[in-house]
Amino acid sequence: MRVLIVEDEAKMSALLRRGLRAEGMAVDVTPRGEDALWMAGSTDYDAIVLDVMLPGIDGIEVCRRLRADGVWAPILMLTARDGVADRVAGLDEGADDYLTKPFSYAELLARLRALGRRGSVERPVRLEVGDLALDPAAHRVWRGENEIELSAKEFALLEVFMRHPGDVLSRFQLLEHAWDYDYENRSNVVDSFVRLLRKKIDKPFGTRSIETVRGAGYRLRDPAP
Ligand code: CA
Repeated sequence: MRVLIVEDEAKMSALLRRGLRAEGMAVDVTPRGEDALWMAGSTDYDAIVLDVMLPGIDGIEVCRRLRADGVWAPILMLTARDGVADRVAGLDEGADDYLTKPFSYAELLARLRALGRRGSVERPVRLEVGDLALDPAAHRVWRGENEIELSAKEFALLEVFMRHPGDVLSRFQLLEHAWDYDYENRSNVVDSFVRLLRKKIDKPFGTRSIETVRGAGYRLRDPAP
């Protein structure tokens, strides 16, 4: 999943970025609410972590403008411990959840995973396509009874496929959801990771679930659409 962090305290945002990336998430960071507006308007984030106290327009105003612009990515607000009025205003302006500072990192992760599940209609905790199963929280993947070991990035890519079974996904869509702006060498990265993924989820099982759609991208075959 791809997350936008809006936080002006450099130490805090660096910590969050490092931690979330270690979980295999793609993470963009900005210290300014104004920048968050165009970033969230041009990229389909799976969740936004939004600090309320920002220079320039504050987090509550950012939240209000995002919803007014039709951006519906789930928003998790960060507020001060005594910021009851901020929490109420933020939730009323369209935020989905909040955490008060200082917060537990484990709780932040659990809340982000919960918000990520809201993105799809059925919101299943465990994704299943044919005999492939993926557990985003436990970071585990199975083909039938066989557990498959994937790197963080292979896992992130498979998760994008499994959230859109049967859909043709362009290289750009796959990049947008599994990689962040800091990834420079983009040219063939999707193709190489699809190759790696096929070696692990298809080849050993004699299956061909990730199909190449010439001129369009890739598709995860859905046996029961
Ligand atoms: Ca702040």
